[in-house]
Amino acid sequence: MATSKSTSTRATGKPAGAKTPSARGVASAAVKNAAEDLPPRPVSREEAVTAAARQARVAAHLCALAKRPPQVLILEGGTPADREAMALFWTARLNCREDEPPCLSCRRCSQALAKTHRDLFFLDGSQGTIKIETVRELRSILGEPPRDDGFRSVILHEAQSLSTEAANALLKSLEEPRPGTCFTLLAAQRERLLPTLVSRGWVLTLAWPVSLRAGVPGEGDCVVGPADTEGEIYRRAVDLAGTLAAFLRTGRGWFQITGARGAVDRELARRLTVLCQRELARAMTGAPALDLGLIFARDMDARGRRTVDVALAECQDALDANVRPELALDWLATRMHALAAHRS
Ligand SMILES: [Zn+2]
Repeated sequence: MATSKSTSTRATGKPAGAKTPSARGVASAAVKNAAEDLPPRPVSREEAVTAAARQARVAAHLCALAKRPPQVLILEGGTPADREAMALFWTARLNCREDEPPCLSCRRCSQALAKTHRDLFFLDGSQGTIKIETVRELRSILGEPPRDDGFRSVILHEAQSLSTEAANALLKSLEEPRPGTCFTLLAAQRERLLPTLVSRGWVLTLAWPVSLRAGVPGEGDCVVGPADTEGEIYRRAVDLAGTLAAFLRTGRGWFQITGARGAVDRELARRLTVLCQRELARAMTGAPALDLGLIFARDMDARGRRTVDVALAECQDALDANVRPELALDWLATRMHALAAHRS
């Protein structure tokens, strides 16, 4: 798997400053293959087709967006493999010249999936921190037009692995118009990225990977898959959201759960807050999927929902600041209960 650990210095054996045109060609390869001499792992056509089928809603969105591609796209949700496949699907869509792009078969599509397309830059944060040197090197290439006649695609896989300096350097690139260049940032949740990066992007949420939420209305666009860690956390978050909804109605049942030793960890707490944010957004558009969303929609007024929104952000801040997760959630639940009770 490609990593961002090395720079062109290692890959080319030349000092990073030696930017002759030919060295720059090698440098571009080094950014995307920036690895200990390992070729990047290709995504097969079958994997891409499967991912696009599983993420049909997002695939349709991407095809619509391709008419006027946003400079910055953020893909969250799904599994890491789903995000990677959909980012390459997007690269193929931007460059395929067939009648119904992306065909995922032509030379351009195949090169995108194999990560060998010369206008694709794949920075892989799954293997370690994406360092500022890598972003600097990328920036030196961004000044030039794409080498082919399509779009340049810059993918940051597990973009939460950007170091702070690298994220700030990237931000400078995102602030400048780069005709012909599309950045795609991949992360499990947008909340894991710098807000300044997210605010510049168009966010699409992939379907969650699990089956386990079969029975959750409004999530039907994902094929049933095996239970995995991510799915298990999601299922527990949905369960906890149910307990929270019951508590908001009856005032009972919450503290027994959070009081049990080890019942709530930080990741679960974070996942619950994200679930709450989604339900809140759905409640505002009249399409809640969970019982909790119904409470937001029916038992709270607009002011109450805004207060919940602020409380959720504060709870996430508390979790980031290493407040014990059960305390952060108890505070959140109490706050929501007061708001729900106030209305009814
Ligand atoms: Zn094609």
